[in-house]
Amino acid sequence: MKALIFLLALSLLGMPRACSASLERVEKSEEEWKALLTPLQFEVARRKGTEPPFSGAYWNFSGEGVYRCVCCGAELFSSRDKFNSGTGWPSFSAPLENAPLREERDASFGMIRTEVLCARCDAHLGHVFDDGPPPSGMRYCINSASLSFVPAD
Ligand SMILES: [Zn+2]
Repeated sequence: MKALIFLLALSLLGMPRACSASLERVEKSEEEWKALLTPLQFEVARRKGTEPPFSGAYWNFSGEGVYRCVCCGAELFSSRDKFNSGTGWPSFSAPLENAPLREERDASFGMIRTEVLCARCDAHLGHVFDDGPPPSGMRYCINSASLSFVPAD
């Protein structure tokens, strides 16, 4: 029992460190991002662009694994939460539990939308809408160009 309490205390102590590590900021200059990304990835992720529908690498893709931020590598979405929305962009009903996502009101193009960004590096990912499938009812409409898929082993 003592050992169990000790282990529990250890894991509790370890937790804050793990959390702050995952939220460590990644900041680079425009030139540095440009050198790391393809022109399309740069336009979408760093300049809030949108890839044309039905054109990206992942809208019609069903591999099992995790989708990371193309800029900083943060784990954002799982293939388990991906669904076919028919929009031509990869769509997810929820992010990963500890995904560093930030939401912002976006009033561009005459629409009120909620922009989804990577909280670690401020990459533009896409938008979230409330017309997704149950139980979450959410639809994260994300650009393939902002994601990097890592297959599960
Ligand atoms: Zn990022």
